[in-house]
Amino acid sequence: MNGKKTEPPKPRDLLARPWHDLRISVMDRCNFRCPYCMPQSVFHDDFAFLESGQRLEFSAIERVARISARLGVTKLRLTGGEPLLRPDLTALIHRLTALPGIDDVALTTNGVLLDRHLNTLHDAGLSRLTISLDSLDPVVFEHMSGGRDKLGAVLTAIDNAAKRGFPGGIKINAMIQRDVNEGDILPLVSRFRNTGITLRFIEFMDVGTRNHWRQSAVVPSAIILQRINALYPVEPLAPLYRGEVAQRYRFTDGGGEIGFISSVTAPFCGDCSRARLSSDGQIYTCLFATTGTDLRPALTSPDDEALEALLRRIWQGRADRYSEIRNPEPQPDSGERIEMYYIGG
Ligand code: SAM
Ligand code: SF4
Ligand code: SF4
Repeated sequence: MNGKKTEPPKPRDLLARPWHDLRISVMDRCNFRCPYCMPQSVFHDDFAFLESGQRLEFSAIERVARISARLGVTKLRLTGGEPLLRPDLTALIHRLTALPGIDDVALTTNGVLLDRHLNTLHDAGLSRLTISLDSLDPVVFEHMSGGRDKLGAVLTAIDNAAKRGFPGGIKINAMIQRDVNEGDILPLVSRFRNTGITLRFIEFMDVGTRNHWRQSAVVPSAIILQRINALYPVEPLAPLYRGEVAQRYRFTDGGGEIGFISSVTAPFCGDCSRARLSSDGQIYTCLFATTGTDLRPALTSPDDEALEALLRRIWQGRADRYSEIRNPEPQPDSGERIEMYYIGG
């Protein structure tokens, strides 16, 4: 015996998948009402969002992240709702980037409040920034933000973020819906080619149960790719790592990269290494989950070993592969799926 404690092996789920990513919803509220995520008719002025005291404090989020890192998590993504509505978010980022084992902290934002926070986010150690932008057309943007508009503020923030630079780069997420913003595909590509910013197209997904999802509104990535390729030829790139969500392509003329997140037409559950933590402390092992596990009882005790054992059990019991099962046949609803604003995108 050399007296050294041997580390238990990192957990694998029931499909032998390791756990690498934790997405943390720091805020359930949002300053947009994108109809495909938080339609105004449901998320109206009287909607019962969490009270601030119900949201996990930074110390609890940090603790879950620290213990997740012991189990194999290396990447964190802060999301929501709109994460920049959470007061003092950069203080949390500071704490998370300092955690042993965590080598990448990213943020997904609608960009409205981004410009004023760029320097502090950068200085807190944020590695990667993803900004959602579904349209460059003011009328379409207004519709897709649920009448909130702010296209000018988002574009300014994107330009200034590009000047500021983030070590892991900047991405734009564009969710394309049939007959809504299909006309934006080529303008978005033209705008972000040759800028160093990676544009990614996301298929409209059946997350939650309140966004009126229907298969006919999905524009398959293959169609988007065809349209882009006809104007700006592209070639596929090999995945950078196992479990990469986006299929990546590069412009053959050296204009940079684009990506496709094709949860509906080309599911990627086989390598899915993500769990999600809601702002009130529930953990979910799939974006399409109907139930999660409440971490709050374990968080009220200072016993880190017990929290680690609980997280290990949760990951080891995971068998989720919703997108693979849904594709090609949409499944009958098996229950209320958790909404994306709550679980985090
Ligand atoms: N509010 C932030 C934002 O919009 O970037 C972060 C949270 S939002 C839920 C994260 C991402 O989820 C956004 O890029 C959004 O476009 C995407 N999203 C939301 N609902 C979706 C849906 N039904 N299908 C596909 N993507 C969706
Ligand atoms: Fe808000 Fe993002 Fe959902 Fe739009 S996609 S409503 S910005 S959380
Ligand atoms: Fe992962 Fe669930 Fe999405 Fe499949 S459907 S990739 S298991 S989050």
